[in-house]
Amino acid sequence: MKLIYEGKAKRLYETDQANEVLIEFKDDATAFNGAKKASFASKGKINKTLSVLLYKMLEKEGVPTHFLRDEGDVTIVARRVDIVKIELVVRNVVAGSLAKRTGLPEGHKLRQPIIETYYKDDALGDPMVTDEHIRELNLARPDELEKIKRSGLKVNQILTKFFAKAGLILVDFKLEYGRLLPSMHNIVLADEITPDTCRLWDEKTGAKMDKDRFRQDLGDLIEGYNEILTRVQHALES
Ligand code: 5GP
Repeated sequence: MKLIYEGKAKRLYETDQANEVLIEFKDDATAFNGAKKASFASKGKINKTLSVLLYKMLEKEGVPTHFLRDEGDVTIVARRVDIVKIELVVRNVVAGSLAKRTGLPEGHKLRQPIIETYYKDDALGDPMVTDEHIRELNLARPDELEKIKRSGLKVNQILTKFFAKAGLILVDFKLEYGRLLPSMHNIVLADEITPDTCRLWDEKTGAKMDKDRFRQDLGDLIEGYNEILTRVQHALES
């Protein structure tokens, strides 16, 4: 299989279908724009499983995604997209860079969700960008940006409610979108939704269950990810 692209946490391969790709979830974890690196056995499998469950739920709720089918332990088949070079961050509770930028205390519940846009560019360190920057850099057309922001808020509503059922607070998360190939007319949710890209805190204790365990050396990463997966599976069954 021909490798199209290798990112920090995933590999993308061509398939025999021109408009489909195979996505492999790696065990690798990186933080601080690649400065901190490690590998965790079974992270790829857990993240693949969680991403599939969450994509399926979002599709059911009317959010178009790139997901097509589950294909083994660490791989899925997805629609081929042209990735929009914008990272959309949605926040419900203050943490991470929002605490640093605003001085608001970590854990402060936001009056309403905050949406931020970042330029997906490793060399620049993914800087925050405004709508005007996005227009100047031609990262997305205004109607595409509007669609992306609306979708992000809808995903937030769905996931916040769902994770609450699992006893987890959805603090914030990052989404990426892509233009469906070959026409590029339709924008769909792409990339992944996993504890690598979401902050999830235990509702009762406030314990951090997500990638912050690795970023801040808070304890066993896989223990947190497994706990999230178990709770998600239970919440889906109930
Ligand atoms: P912050 O801006 O506070 O660092 O991150 C906000 C949220 O977006 C967190 O849930 C974080 O995991 C996610 N996020 C932002 N940028 C990235 C990124 O480049 N990679 C990953 N995996 N997650 C990101």
